[in-house]
Amino acid sequence: MIDYDLHIHTEYCGHAPGMSIEAIIAAAEQKQLETIAITAHIFSEDDLLLIPTIKSQLAAINTDVNVIIGAEVDADGMRTDGKLITDKLDDIPYVLGSIHYIPGTGIYPSSPQDNPLGAEDFFRAWQSTLIGLVSNPRLDTLAHPGRLAAIACDMDVYFDDMLAVFHQVAKISVKNNICWGINELNERKIPQTLHQRWNSIYKIALDAGVKLIYGSDAHKPQEIGKQTHTKKTIEAIGVQNLQTPKSLGLI
Ligand SMILES: [Zn+2]
Ligand SMILES: [Zn+2]
Repeated sequence: MIDYDLHIHTEYCGHAPGMSIEAIIAAAEQKQLETIAITAHIFSEDDLLLIPTIKSQLAAINTDVNVIIGAEVDADGMRTDGKLITDKLDDIPYVLGSIHYIPGTGIYPSSPQDNPLGAEDFFRAWQSTLIGLVSNPRLDTLAHPGRLAAIACDMDVYFDDMLAVFHQVAKISVKNNICWGINELNERKIPQTLHQRWNSIYKIALDAGVKLIYGSDAHKPQEIGKQTHTKKTIEAIGVQNLQTPKSLGLI
């Protein structure tokens, strides 16, 4: 039983209605979670202003849930080196790193048709961005390994090349003590036809000694603590123990 959820969004991102801090805490209590991390999207440096707002709202709530105020920080979408959009992260105890934009374009894709780069150029830009991202020891967790590639890249062509990149990314992640997220939202974000093959990414992590940690990536209160897809992933890869907030030193 996983009694934590280390990837939860707030209504401040504009695409998670109903996710007030109060609603998040109520849902965590209802799911009997011991620890959660509120990880608002940081798409630009200005978004860091959310952190004190979240802190003050949290201070007004009485709860037994351990609440970590973290952040999901984007790789700069206008670059291809994986540099985060901000490096002012000293006060944030838990940093998820993510790639949501097609590197170098700032475009947020929903299918390969949204990719203005050629397939090969996209793949190279994704590779350099991902390697750059995990080369930053400030990251605690790679939030959803490979999601952008699954959305914007033809996996019938690039799947094996992608796994080769993940072997390299795994080694760097171990060196920098960066976990990979087992992400419940992958159930919807990764095309259904890829679900089974996607477990290969987590097997690479396990073989290389990369730590794995769970997060729902909830954008609605009812998604907090949801583990349907996560349980399938855990079973398929045969992992015995995921990391916990305690093992990561967060509580
Ligand atoms: Zn994300
Ligand atoms: Zn997220």
